Amino acid sequence: MSSTKIQIRGQPLFKVLTRNHRMINSVVCGVPIKRQHRVSNVLRTSDPPLGSVPTRTDESQFLRGDGNGRFGRFGGKFVPETLMSPLRDLEDEFDFVLNDHEFQEELTTALRDYVGRETPLYFAGRLTEHYKNISQTTGGGPEIYLKREDLSHCGSHKINNALGQAMIARRLGCKRVVAATGAGQHGVATAAACAKLSIECTVFMGTTDIEKHSSNVLSMKLLGAQVKSVEGTFKDASSEAIRNWVGNLETTYYLSGTVVGPHPNPLMVREFQSVIGKETRRQAKQLWGGKPDVLVACVGSGSNALGLFLEFLGDEDVRLVGVEAAGLGLDSGKHSATLAVGDVGVYHGSMSYLLQDDQGQILKPHSIGVGLEYPGVGPEISFLKESGRAEFYTATDQEAVQACMLLSRLEGIIPALEASHALAFLDKLVPTLRDGAKVVVNCSGRGDKDLDTLIQRGMPSSLC
Ligand SMILES: *Cc1c(COP(=O)(O)O)cnc(C)c1O
Repeated sequence: MSSTKIQIRGQPLFKVLTRNHRMINSVVCGVPIKRQHRVSNVLRTSDPPLGSVPTRTDESQFLRGDGNGRFGRFGGKFVPETLMSPLRDLEDEFDFVLNDHEFQEELTTALRDYVGRETPLYFAGRLTEHYKNISQTTGGGPEIYLKREDLSHCGSHKINNALGQAMIARRLGCKRVVAATGAGQHGVATAAACAKLSIECTVFMGTTDIEKHSSNVLSMKLLGAQVKSVEGTFKDASSEAIRNWVGNLETTYYLSGTVVGPHPNPLMVREFQSVIGKETRRQAKQLWGGKPDVLVACVGSGSNALGLFLEFLGDEDVRLVGVEAAGLGLDSGKHSATLAVGDVGVYHGSMSYLLQDDQGQILKPHSIGVGLEYPGVGPEISFLKESGRAEFYTATDQEAVQACMLLSRLEGIIPALEASHALAFLDKLVPTLRDGAKVVVNCSGRGDKDLDTLIQRGMPSSLC
């Protein structure tokens, strides 16, 4: 055992314990895996996970958490004892694949040839022009770029994580994957990854969501997944999927869709999504020879936001902006603005900000962007708020719809209603920025899936 003290601004902030050369005897999914490798509790900054690695300061190391799933007071592993052992095995496995050349090479190839990475960093010229005109600036105004996750296979950033975790499931010898999905984006991505890797897939989905998103249900079935309906919504489907996993630990892998849940889930998902920010750094350098000034992403639970932000945590000159769903308004009780009005509590295995009542009961979230309807956020997102490293704002349903229409008309890109929340915030952000500032908005997904929602809002007749 060796112990290292990390000093942040002269203060010892946390202790890091490093275990070296431990023999792993993993029994997840009933297949014993024996191998000797270095196990560390710390995500080593020298590791080259998923491509290029920047130099990071102690500060950014601090912001990245303690490697044990703790981000300040957030995160952790609040689970029944029976789950501690499988989670620990998963942690070891994840730690291994981060540094495993073969795994990383296979993932990189799949991200390129299957997912279609890298996704473009697109200069939104007409959107830039639009804001320049309304700001009536004499200079050029800020420049707006879109990170085109909408062009990823299956239409959103979800596939980056689904594919990575499905590869881990296969390595662990799991014959079966279970997942829960709300609108179906994560379900479709998981079903696709499982088809590719020849793993049986079961997706749990709430009855109301199944009705609303029938084309995603059909896609999942086409991709060979079993779709199980659960009375209720996403929250109930999640609980059912976890129950199913716990009852079948010997054969089954639970594939989480975002940066929530007990450690190592949040860490795993953010690492698989961090490819977004890594590409952005490289592309910014190519496009204008510098860094972005502001990064903007919508926040449901935080996976597309963290995926973009992580690479830049140590760059203090890069502003990180997250946008939550204010739904029908923060006073209406119908929103998904966890950081804006929630409190800290424990849900789905970790501590974070939550939407809860006085009794600690979880409240039903609402957003027109169904992917944003989660009553919490990932622990690392809570920490980024509390540490002040990232800023968080909100956009309403109405503002998101407007932003969706604007981008469609100006750029010929129909963004997902989730991503439209990030785009909507440009109205408030852009007038505060200097001329020439470079803004990157994460276009987390495409809007084809939202056409029915737009039709229900009377869209076709209000257009043209
Ligand atoms: C699921 C989803 C989101 C929200 O999830 P995060 O974990 O906050 O990224 C945002 N955009 C799209 C397109 C989604 O499918």
